[in-house]
Amino acid sequence: MWPPGQAVGQALSPPRPVDLCHEGGLQDASARSEASGSILMIKLGPRCANPHCPLPRTVWSTFRRPPRGVFLHKQWLCSPECLNQVLEPSLVPVIETTRANRETKSHRFPLGLVMHSLGLVTKESLQSALQAQREAGQGRVGDWLRRQGAVTEPQITQALAVQWSLPIYPLDRWEGLLNWAHLLPLRLLHSFQMLPVHYLPASGLLYVAFSSRVDYTALYAIEQMLEFRTQPCVAQESQVEKALDALYRRRVSEDNQILGPLEPALISGATLQEVIKFGAREVRVAGCADNVWIRLSAADLVRDLLFQRRVEHPLDIHAPAVPPLLVQPW
Ligand SMILES: [Zn+2]
Repeated sequence: MWPPGQAVGQALSPPRPVDLCHEGGLQDASARSEASGSILMIKLGPRCANPHCPLPRTVWSTFRRPPRGVFLHKQWLCSPECLNQVLEPSLVPVIETTRANRETKSHRFPLGLVMHSLGLVTKESLQSALQAQREAGQGRVGDWLRRQGAVTEPQITQALAVQWSLPIYPLDRWEGLLNWAHLLPLRLLHSFQMLPVHYLPASGLLYVAFSSRVDYTALYAIEQMLEFRTQPCVAQESQVEKALDALYRRRVSEDNQILGPLEPALISGATLQEVIKFGAREVRVAGCADNVWIRLSAADLVRDLLFQRRVEHPLDIHAPAVPPLLVQPW
């Protein structure tokens, strides 16, 4: 069952039909029909969440075609057009969030100073590394210190854990490499150099290890998407890279990376195409640092779309306007 703790089939079922005679009542309509004898019980389908839905809920349409539709988080929408009309404006604040995330700067104590305060490097070594970094105009101070032989990788991880006030996850003793990685799209893991390392079903807590910068926007996106709580931790960089390589070789998740400008109309149109192609019954959306992450669920399958901001790229998926023929209930 995917994902643990989330009943996919249950989430995809349309809401329970409403009994006209006792709307909101607890008693089952068919049972009361038997009890009341001649009273005609009529059930209407769920109400579309699109306020401009072109297909009003009628008794006849409900009889003619049982409603299927798709959920956008907890909102039920009756047709692809209704999904598009609700999804597109809802993407605007999500995209704004990704832009704000990108501009957010870390106010943590610099890693070099943390290492010096821990007694891992001398003042001279740190100054030399900073000088090399300035002259090269690139690179992390920890990498320059390693090149100079001033620190080891485990020492950098130790300083990183102090910098972020987080525990170190021992990936070298990690046996469950594939247990939780399938929960998240691989490209997202790669973008943030992170790994889901452990999940506690009883508390719904997912431990996520980072190898350099701990990105709380990514953690928030995971919480929105999976309805798990997350707990960050730190792991050694080379071990995270090794684990990600192993996961890529095993292709533990199916996700599509779509590079281009983050425009609501383009993302909504491309998503709609994939929803129809995949037969998705649920759509979830989350934003994190230059990524709009969309997850499609169908039966017990999921597919992830990762829209990543690349201004110089056209959108990879052609996203035409929704054809009029699609304005029908699913
Ligand atoms: Zn509708």
